Amino acid sequence: MANMNPKRNEMPTQSPEERAHNFLEVALGYDEATAIDEAMRCLNCKNSPCVAGCPVNIRIPEFIAKIRECDFEGAYDIISQSSSLPAVCGRVCPQESQCESRCVRGIKGESVGIGRLERFVADWHNAHSEKAPQTSEKNGRRVAIVGSGPSGLTCAGDLAKKGYSVTVFEALHAAGGVLVYGIPEFRLPKAIVQKEVDNLTAMGVEIKTNMVIGKTLTVDELFSMGYEAVFIGSGAGLPRFMGIPGESLKGVYSANEFLTRSNLMKAYKKEPITPIMKGGRVAVVGGGNVAMDAARSALRLGAEKVYIVYRRSMEELPARREEVEHAVEEGIELMLLTNPVEILGYNNPDDKRDARNGFVRAMKCIRMELGEPDARGRRSPVEIEGSEFELLVDTVIMSIGTSPNPLIKMTTAGLDTNSRGGIIVEEGSGATTKDGVFAGGDAVTGAATVISAMGAGKVAARAIDEYISNKK
Ligand SMILES: Cc1cc2nc3c(=O)[nH]c(=O)nc-3n(C[C@H](O)[C@H](O)[C@H](O)COP(=O)(O)OP(=O)(O)OC[C@H]3O[C@@H](n4cnc5c(N)ncnc54)[C@H](O)[C@@H]3O)c2cc1C
Repeated sequence: MANMNPKRNEMPTQSPEERAHNFLEVALGYDEATAIDEAMRCLNCKNSPCVAGCPVNIRIPEFIAKIRECDFEGAYDIISQSSSLPAVCGRVCPQESQCESRCVRGIKGESVGIGRLERFVADWHNAHSEKAPQTSEKNGRRVAIVGSGPSGLTCAGDLAKKGYSVTVFEALHAAGGVLVYGIPEFRLPKAIVQKEVDNLTAMGVEIKTNMVIGKTLTVDELFSMGYEAVFIGSGAGLPRFMGIPGESLKGVYSANEFLTRSNLMKAYKKEPITPIMKGGRVAVVGGGNVAMDAARSALRLGAEKVYIVYRRSMEELPARREEVEHAVEEGIELMLLTNPVEILGYNNPDDKRDARNGFVRAMKCIRMELGEPDARGRRSPVEIEGSEFELLVDTVIMSIGTSPNPLIKMTTAGLDTNSRGGIIVEEGSGATTKDGVFAGGDAVTGAATVISAMGAGKVAARAIDEYISNKK
C-alpha cells in the first residue's frame, strides 16, 4: 500500500542557533524507519518520469522499491550502476529542478524525497558495507586525468574498472575539486569525499597532487610519458570581479579564495595557517549557491553580521531555495535589488608595510529596480538614480561567477576553446579538437553542477576506451 501523505518526511536538521556557530553538517539524514516510510510514497510509475529528469538516469523507482523491501545494499547497487558519487549527489544535487520536479506525487502535494533517499542509501552503505571496491585486471594502457573534481574522479573510476592504469594530476594539495575546496563541511563533510577518493585508490587509480598541468607538466609531455589519452576536468575556478573601484583593498576576496582558505586551509582552526577575516561585518556579492556557502561560512568563522547583496529580486535569486532558507534562518540578511558601485577603504597607520593599500571600510551601493525583460525573458536590473548609500563592512566577498582557467589552453597547441573559455568538445564523446585529448565538466560548460560533471566524466571514459581500443 502506498503512503498517500501529500507531505514528504522532514529531514532532521541542527537548530539554526546551534549550527550558525559550528561547521558540522546541517541536515542529519533519514533513519531507516523514515526512509522506508518515504519510499512508500513512491507510486512506481510505469513511465518513470523521474528517471528522465536525472542527468545520469539513475533507475529511481527500482532503488526506492529496494528500500521498501529493506534491501538497502540492493538499493545501493542500483544507484551505483549510474552514479559513482551517491553520498555526494544525495547531498548537493539540485533534485528539486531535476528528478523531483518530474515526480507525479509533486502534482497534488510534495514530490518523493528522492535526494534524501539517495543520501540515506549511500550513508547506509558507507556505514555497513564491507565490500571492497571492484578491481580489474590491467590492460597495460595508460590514461592521464587532469583535475580531481567529480568529472575527473568519475572518468578515472570508469576507466580503472575497464583495466586502464589511470593517473589523476591535481593542482591542489588535496583531491576532490570543488567538493573539497568549495562546498563547505556543513553541507558536504570532507570525510565523504575522502571515502570516494580512497575507493578509487583502492581500485588502483594513482592520484598525484600539487601537479599543475600547464606548469609542472604540459599535456604534450603527458603523451610523451606514455599516456595514450588525456581527460581534462580542470573545472571553472577562475573568479570574476565586478571591475569597480576598491576591489584590490585588503579584505576583498573572491568566493573561491575565501572558501578555499576556509575549507582546505582550515581557517576555522584556533591557530589557522592562513589569514582570513576575523569577526566584523561581511558583505557577500551575488545570489548563487556559492554566495550562500561563502556567507554561511563567514558566519561560522565568527562574523558579527553577514549581508548577501544581490542586484535582482528574490524571484530571480539563483541559489537553491533550501540553501536560502537555511541562510536566512541562521541570521544572514538578504539585501535584494542592491548593487555595489565602489568599495571604500581606509589606511591603517599601524600597517607600515604598504600604506597605499588600505583596508575595507564600507561598500557603496545603489538600489535597483527591475526593468524590461531581456532576450532570455529575464527582467534586467536598473539603477535608481540618487539612491546610493554606504554599507559599513570590513570584508567583501565577490561571488559573481567563475570561468575556466586559460592555463591549459595557453600551453596546449591545437586545443580550441569558445568565447567564454570553455573547451570545445564533440557532443556525446567529449573529444576535443586535439587528438587523444578529451574534456568534460565545468572546464567545458562553465560553472554547472556535480551531476552534470559526473555525467561528462562517464561519457568521456566510454569514448576514451573506444579511442584507445581502436588504436594499433
Ligand atoms: C562553492 C560552490 C558550491 C557549489 N555547490 C553545488 C551544489 O550544491 N550542487 C551542485 O550540483 N553543484 C555545486 N557546485 C558546482 C559543482 O561543484 C561543479 O559544477 C563541479 O564540481 C564541477 O566538477 P568538475 O570536475 O568539472 O570541476 P571541479 O570540481 O572544479 O574540479 C576541478 C579540479 O581541477 C583542478 N585543476 C584545475 N586546473 C588544473 C591544472 N591546470 N592542473 C591540474 N589540476 C587542475 C582543480 O584544482 C580542481 O580540483 C558548487 C560550486 C562551488 C564553487
